[in-house]
Amino acid sequence: MPNALTWLFLLAVITAAATRLWLAARQVRHVRAHRGAVPGEFAAAIALSAHQKAADYTVAKVKLGVLDTALEVAIVLAFTLGGALQGLSQLWSGAFEQGSLWHGTALLLSLFLLQAALSLPLALYRVFVVESRFGFNRMTLALFVTDLAKQAALALALGVPLLLAVLWLMARMGGLWWLYVWVVLTAFGLVLQLIFPAYILPLFNKFTPVAEGELARRVSALLERCGFRSRGLYVMDGSRRSSHGNAFFAGFGATKRIVLFDTLVERLTPTEVEAVLAHELGHYKLHHILKMLVLNAVITFAGLWLLGQLIGEPWFYSGLGVATQTTATALALFMLAVPEFTFFLHPLMARFSRRREFEADAYATQHAEASELVRALVKLYNDNAATLTPDPLHSAFYDSHPPAAIRISRLTA
Ligand SMILES: [Zn+2]
Repeated sequence: MPNALTWLFLLAVITAAATRLWLAARQVRHVRAHRGAVPGEFAAAIALSAHQKAADYTVAKVKLGVLDTALEVAIVLAFTLGGALQGLSQLWSGAFEQGSLWHGTALLLSLFLLQAALSLPLALYRVFVVESRFGFNRMTLALFVTDLAKQAALALALGVPLLLAVLWLMARMGGLWWLYVWVVLTAFGLVLQLIFPAYILPLFNKFTPVAEGELARRVSALLERCGFRSRGLYVMDGSRRSSHGNAFFAGFGATKRIVLFDTLVERLTPTEVEAVLAHELGHYKLHHILKMLVLNAVITFAGLWLLGQLIGEPWFYSGLGVATQTTATALALFMLAVPEFTFFLHPLMARFSRRREFEADAYATQHAEASELVRALVKLYNDNAATLTPDPLHSAFYDSHPPAAIRISRLTA
């Protein structure tokens, strides 16, 4: 039965999709308008052909994003107002008692499976058409399938026990169930972070300690200067899947480690890698990782509290196209509908993230050479075909990193 929630939900879906399409059109227009010339400050370091490749690659990714928007809208509407979730619930009630733990688990697992299956063609297209066309893809179809199988096995092994625990708590813990679920989810997230570098990442990639030499010497001197202890510095065979280069931190506490993509080590000089690492260390030293974890916990708390208020209200279910009022349908509806409303928080989150990038850059300039970081960034923009001329509004809305020109002008100031 359509009610006020139905209209509010539809309004959110339409506004979010229209905003995404409008920003996509702006980005394409802006990047194309600046395709003809490398911006002055980069002219010495980046060839026109590379700049044009970056423009074409950016446009191709935006077009992929438009397909993704259309697919997401179709999926969300089909499962909610379209009645697909209600249909799934009825289907499973033939096998399990409606509202039981097993009925709920089967319902949610089949929902996730269908969502994944529907997004698969686009994922294949991204890797084997778009990434391949621009020469970034190194993945074979066999590796893609193996990755998918491993991810599915991992999701089942970790996800099914978690789902059972959450549904059980929702059914048994009375009005404060959401508080118990929050504790379980937060603890689960922390454990996942802890085991991620040592037990999960190695399922997908090989890690080798950085070989003796100038790079190893420079890095250990940097770590010493910054007072940083870790379980080690590793090179990861990122080149198995893609030629995009990167560096990151994984885990926290005793298990934390620094990971460099082999593609990064190949392309950058030791002093440039040192500057990139100083930036990554900045994120760690300025507690950006911890702040992110706390922010996630706060958002989860607010979300679960809200679901706690909605779960007993018949209008919540009927307004979103579901007649069967169970804990699992509530959870499914919430996960489907909430992103449509939180979409508008994107600019805020992106802004936080860009501020943290500036802070990490400032840290890097204190502990390594700013000019080396600039050189490394320019190489990375060049190699990854990242656009130097994003649309300012598109960038403000989505980008976790500041636009190239602004970032570099701060570093050289
Ligand atoms: Zn960063």
